[in-house]
Amino acid sequence: MSRKKITDENLKQTVTLAEEMFENYEKKILDLSNILNFIKIITSTLNIEKMVQALLFSCQGNILVSSVSIFLHVNLDDSNFMLKNSVGYETDNFDIKIKKSDPLIKFLNTNINYVFFKDIKIDEAYKTIVKKLTPLDPEIILPFKAKLSLNGFLVLSKKLTGKDFTNSDLNFMTSIAEAAGIAIENTRLYEMATVDRMSTLYVNHYFKNRMAEEFSRSRRFKKPFSLIMMDIDHFKIVNDTYGHQAGDYVIKQIGRIIHESIRQMDIPSRYGGEEFAIILPETGVSSTKMIAERLRHTIETFDFKFKNKSIKITSSFGISLLEKNFKTQEEMIQSADQALYYSKELGRNMVTVAHPS
Ligand code: GH3
Ligand code: MG
Ligand code: MG
Repeated sequence: MSRKKITDENLKQTVTLAEEMFENYEKKILDLSNILNFIKIITSTLNIEKMVQALLFSCQGNILVSSVSIFLHVNLDDSNFMLKNSVGYETDNFDIKIKKSDPLIKFLNTNINYVFFKDIKIDEAYKTIVKKLTPLDPEIILPFKAKLSLNGFLVLSKKLTGKDFTNSDLNFMTSIAEAAGIAIENTRLYEMATVDRMSTLYVNHYFKNRMAEEFSRSRRFKKPFSLIMMDIDHFKIVNDTYGHQAGDYVIKQIGRIIHESIRQMDIPSRYGGEEFAIILPETGVSSTKMIAERLRHTIETFDFKFKNKSIKITSSFGISLLEKNFKTQEEMIQSADQALYYSKELGRNMVTVAHPS
C-alpha cells in the first residue's frame, strides 16, 4: 500500500479548500438568517403595503440588484396583475397591467421557481408581455404562489456587480418568493374577512373590535377619541325610485367619499346596510365636527350618476366623544346613535353632537 506524502503544496490546497467551504457555510448561514428575518417581517404584518416594502428592500439589499418590481393580483374585482411597487428606477410612474390570460401568467402558474427574461424574449408567444416588461430592465422573474395558484410575481434586474446570478442567489430568491406567496394570500384572506366588498369599508365585527381597543387605549392614556355614526337619508325612496342596483352604486360611492374625507389613522366601517361608523382616534370635538360636516357637505353636493340619472343624496350624522360617564364602548355607540336620531328628527342632512350627560 502506498501512502501519499503530505507536501507543503498539498497542505496549502487543503487549507484553501477548507477556507472556501467555511466561507460558503458562513454565506449560507447569513442567507438563512436573512430569510428568517424577512419571514419575521412579512408574517408580523397583514398590511400589504408594508409587506411589499419589506420584499423590495430584502431583494435589493440581499441580492444587490439594481432594481426590483412587484406585481400582485390582490383585488378580487379586477382580474389583472398590477405593478404594485418598484425600487431602483429613475422614474416611479410605470403603470403596467397584465391580464390573467397572458401567456407569462400561465407559464408562471406551472411548476417553475423562476424564469430568465432572455429565455422568454426569444419566444414569439411572449411578444406582448416582453414589450410591456422591457422598461423594467428584467433579468429574472419569480412567481408568488399560494395553494398552487399565482398571486403575484417579482421582477429583478441585473446585479449591481454586473455578474450572473449564482445558485445561492437563486435559492435565496426562491425561498423569499415562496414565503411572500403565502404571506400575500394571508393578507388577502384577512382583508376578505374584515372589509366589506361593496363599500370597501371595514365590516361591523371589525369595527366593534377596534372600538373596544380604542376605548381602553383612550382610557389608559387619557387621550380623546370620537365616533361618528352616519345614515343615508330616505334611502328606501332611492331604492324604490331608481332600483336596488342604483342603491348599491350609491353605497359604493359613499364608501369612496368616506375614504377620501378621513385621515389614514381613522377607522371607517359599514355598520349596517346604509349606516356607517367612523372611529377617530385622538380627536376632539371640534375636529370631529369638522370632518362630519365636510362629509355631509360632500355627499349633499356629489353628483351620484347612475345610468344617466342624477341621484340627490343627503345623510345624517351623530357624534359621541369618549367621556367619563361611558362605562362601555356600547354606551358610546348608543350615544352616537341617539345623536343621529336627533339629526333625523330635526330634519335630516345635519350633524348632531351627543351632549355629555
Ligand atoms: P331614514 O332617512 O330615516 O334613514 O330613511 P331610510 O329610508 O334611509 O331608512 P330605512 O331604515 O327605512 O331604510 C333603509 C333602506 O336601506 C332599506 C334597505 O332596503 C336599504 N338598504 C340597506 N342595505 C342596502 C344595500 O346594500 N343596497 C341597497 N340597494 N339598499 C340597501
Ligand atoms: Mg338606517
Ligand atoms: Mg337611512
